[in-house]
Amino acid sequence: MAKLFRAAIMGPPGSGKGTISKRIAQSFGLQYLSSGHFLREGIAAKTEAGLLVKTYVERSMLVPDHVMTRLMLPRLEQLSGHSWLLDGFPRTLGQALALNNLYQLDLVISLNIPYETLKDRLSDRWIHPASGRVYNMGFNPPQVQGKDDITGEPLIQHDDDKPEALMARLRHYKDVAKPVIDLYKSQGILHSFSGTETDRIWPYINSLLSTKMHTQPSDTCQAQ
Ligand code: ATP
Ligand code: MG
Repeated sequence: MAKLFRAAIMGPPGSGKGTISKRIAQSFGLQYLSSGHFLREGIAAKTEAGLLVKTYVERSMLVPDHVMTRLMLPRLEQLSGHSWLLDGFPRTLGQALALNNLYQLDLVISLNIPYETLKDRLSDRWIHPASGRVYNMGFNPPQVQGKDDITGEPLIQHDDDKPEALMARLRHYKDVAKPVIDLYKSQGILHSFSGTETDRIWPYINSLLSTKMHTQPSDTCQAQ
């Protein structure tokens, strides 16, 4: 059996993480786990966990580490036997250390996108508050302007997607991500990619993963 492959992707809001993650999952057959998506699912289904995290997610505040790890680590346990890619988790050093206690990641992808590009993308972002569905007026507009595709309800722009809040938000992201990135750098598993267009970054990520996944030593009944 081939060795399991465990990866995470990091990048600021608007960096194209979701798009790239989906391509990776499709091209390389990894299970994809997005923390934001997972939390929104729980909120929509009104699960106990969903109720717990609702106020944070609605305000774009980080869910506390102990809650986050309690939700995510059991999900990963369910994926044992599969290779996976994490998106949005770990976001803090506390989460990274908790994850590290259980799994050694093989690879971490970090996206470096210029501030101007992020600003352009995020200031065009509108959401359907009840479901968390996200639209971008530039490249992923709703079918009817200002209305959610599924419910037809009005879309709103989050206060923190408004230009004046973006700078603070991106700076906050950087501050929190820095120690996580440093940790993975020190483990020798961090790979950074810079650019303004997802389609231009993708070939590099694709070839990195092709190399990494095919040079994994084969598994000799290692549990971790
Ligand atoms: P932003 O960081 O601006 O919210 P986003 O909307 O792309 O960017 P998602 O990854 O979709 O972020 O997550 C949505 C929300 O879920 C976050 O704002 C936060 O409240 C919560 N969240 C997601 N992942 C984590 C995490 N690892 N730790 C804490 N909170 C998280
Ligand atoms: Mg958000």
